[in-house]
Amino acid sequence: MVRGQFAVPIRCRSCGQAGSVEWDQHCRFEPGIGFRRRLVLVSSGFRNEFASMPSREPKIVCDVCGTVQSEREPA
Ligand SMILES: [Zn+2]
Repeated sequence: MVRGQFAVPIRCRSCGQAGSVEWDQHCRFEPGIGFRRRLVLVSSGFRNEFASMPSREPKIVCDVCGTVQSEREPA
């Protein structure tokens, strides 16, 4: 595991697909949004719908059934 990043296990609440997402350890503050972390990596089985839009909050979607994952990394 790369230093400065941490992985959060996720499981699709719809089909049970398991995977993980990795976040940058350092928060940054963005006006109008607040503190947030940068999504570094999404494991296979899931994808970040907004990967091409870094200004958007990451939206993690199950690749199997298309369910949006609501799990957020602990604040
Ligand atoms: Zn699913």
